[in-house]
Amino acid sequence: MTVTTATLGFPRIGPRRELKFALERHWSGKSDETELLEAAAGLKSAAWARQRALGADWLPSGDFSLYDHVLDMSLMLGAVPQRYGAQPGTADLATYFAMARGTKGTGGESLTACEMTKWFDTNYHFLVPELHAGQKLALGRLTIVDAWREAKAQGFETRPVIVGPVTWLSLAKGQDVDPFDYLDEVLGLYSVILGHLREAGAEWVQIDEPILVTDLSDQQRSALTRAYARLSRSGPKLMLTTYFGGLGDNLSFAASLPVAGLHIDCVRAPEQLDRLLKVAPKSLLLSLGVVDGRNIWRADLEALLDRLEPVAALRDLVLAPSCSLLHVPVDLDLERKLDGEVKQWLAFAVQKIAELTTLKVALNHGGDSVREELAASAKAVASRKHSPRIHDPKVAERVRAVTDDMRRRKSGHAERSRVQADALDLPLFPTTTIGSFPQTEAIRKARAAHNRGDMCASTYDAFLRAETERAIRWQEAAGLDMLVHGEFERNDMVQYFGEQLSGFAFTTTGWVQSYGSRCVRPPILFGDVSRPAPMTVEWWRYAQSLTEKPVKGMLTGPVTILNWSFVRDDQPREDSCRQIALAIRDEVQDLEEAGCRAIQIDEAALREGLPLRRADWQPYLDWAVDCFRLAASGVEDATQIHTHMCYSEFNDILADIGAMDADVISIETARSQMELLEGFARYEYPAAIGPGVYDIHTPRVPDEAEMVNLIRLAQLHLSPKQLWVNPDCGLKTRKWEEVKPSINAMVAAAQTLRAEH
Ligand code: GLN
Ligand code: ZN
Repeated sequence: MTVTTATLGFPRIGPRRELKFALERHWSGKSDETELLEAAAGLKSAAWARQRALGADWLPSGDFSLYDHVLDMSLMLGAVPQRYGAQPGTADLATYFAMARGTKGTGGESLTACEMTKWFDTNYHFLVPELHAGQKLALGRLTIVDAWREAKAQGFETRPVIVGPVTWLSLAKGQDVDPFDYLDEVLGLYSVILGHLREAGAEWVQIDEPILVTDLSDQQRSALTRAYARLSRSGPKLMLTTYFGGLGDNLSFAASLPVAGLHIDCVRAPEQLDRLLKVAPKSLLLSLGVVDGRNIWRADLEALLDRLEPVAALRDLVLAPSCSLLHVPVDLDLERKLDGEVKQWLAFAVQKIAELTTLKVALNHGGDSVREELAASAKAVASRKHSPRIHDPKVAERVRAVTDDMRRRKSGHAERSRVQADALDLPLFPTTTIGSFPQTEAIRKARAAHNRGDMCASTYDAFLRAETERAIRWQEAAGLDMLVHGEFERNDMVQYFGEQLSGFAFTTTGWVQSYGSRCVRPPILFGDVSRPAPMTVEWWRYAQSLTEKPVKGMLTGPVTILNWSFVRDDQPREDSCRQIALAIRDEVQDLEEAGCRAIQIDEAALREGLPLRRADWQPYLDWAVDCFRLAASGVEDATQIHTHMCYSEFNDILADIGAMDADVISIETARSQMELLEGFARYEYPAAIGPGVYDIHTPRVPDEAEMVNLIRLAQLHLSPKQLWVNPDCGLKTRKWEEVKPSINAMVAAAQTLRAEH
């Protein structure tokens, strides 16, 4: 039997973020369309050549995108909302970018972008397809066929990748219409697209239906049945591709769809392989995602070989990463600064393809032909198992010693709020902000100069102190009741803490696309976490020394640090989270000891960490809430614990939000007219809430009257005593010219309402 290898998608941003720079040049008017497309073509060829050289047999085409592959699919289907003014099927590149980013109103009308949201449980954002009642779909430019031909012309026989119809429809947002009403129309267009691919010469097509790893409704199931009955007749053989988890109760169903191949994720759900082998017909080509496409760890090749040998003896196999490599950085070899010991444990996209090649050769020709590669893998695995850099017995001991008392505040909320009212002496409708103030050009320049070594530590420190002082003085003058230091010293709310904790490593080139030209470099949580020294206390102490008003301590919570990092795969996520929680707890206690009376622990990413399957929610929420409480509960009753969550879907998790037992929570509500407070009211949420009274995601300056109105609306649901007044989120992306009038109006709004009581 033969083993081949595939990649399901390669990082499109380029090894040195070439795509980012090409896009930004184009958007700023410094390059024309031809230049942009040339840059893109160069990246595509380089990616094909690279994957081929690494030994991949099945190369993807159409995985590259100028912005987002879901948007590409929407354009091919002609699903362009009317407001962009394109005739169905005729959208050009300018329309494409308008949908992706909106347009600024210079001269012409300004258009809002399509909504963006996270792709399943990744940190990659896609553009949500929109379908309106009465909308006409029509075949757009078939970029997928162009990409296939482009590869072919360079001698690469590729397997085109497209987002499957049921996943696309499931992610679409219908306005006055159920997206599934469009099923037949959409399937008709998919048939034509597949027909064109066949005609061009594509033998196989990879059709991605990650929706199959989620809880399916009857509607989705019958749509899948209908879709694949129809599309399997359209020409190319289909490799139905699933990832981000196990098929679970959809497994037999997926294996029975009339497709030629099925890809499963054997990293997140290794147990599904045996189940699949029992039900999969011999004629179904199986593609096994055995190398982790979502994480940066090197694979244990020997263990994989043991697992795969008996399977490969029975049938042809394709080996692949679990999902597209879009979610990992490109090439570990570019990393120059990473600690050598940590580096040997890692594999980025390029290294993962090489691992697959090693497995393939070993399975086809025996392990001897790749002895060195296997030995290197075994050595890395052994070193990770035993390295003292990873395993810190003191941390293990501390986690073992956690008691229930440590996750409980001394008194209940009612008692605490009395003590805190005395300690803090705040007015009704206290005003505050979420933490950060504008990260100005000057701050970014100073940080860059400091990182390059062009600005010495003391100059940089003095600069940051001056910024902090200015922010404190301004907040006092503005009349805010609870101040913040401004977070000027922070590059990023997770990285800043990761850099000061043991157990984290940082790359210099490990970029991963977040959306469009935006990339992030997630921290790598490789070992047991502890906090060698206080992280924020000095900044807080300095800020508090400048004012009589209380200054909030400002921390990122354990769940958010975990969810925005590449994390260990050698222990459960919750174990890593608990270690981070203990480190944050130390910081909370040190802040309290320094005299801090209110400490905010941000959990911006708690909700987005929800697993894809509903049945897995509660276990996740239980340990996530537990970790928050562990971080927050080491303080006296008089210390006020705040938390912040920048989203607005709480209805499903209200009980868990309550269980976090924070004294004050600030949330995003400005755009939903305070409606979501209804849920908090229904749940009789006891603590205080700061519903964001203006949207910080736009430069628009709100006026006093509209905020007064919003706070009045909030009082329909909550008692005035429960309410805080604050913006939606941190102000780091705004300009001071916007922040100042907005906050002034916000404070005025609070004063107006106070006068009424
Ligand atoms: N304290 C952080 C800030 O203000 C919170 C940001 C967030 O939740 N995304 O920037
Ligand atoms: Zn926020």
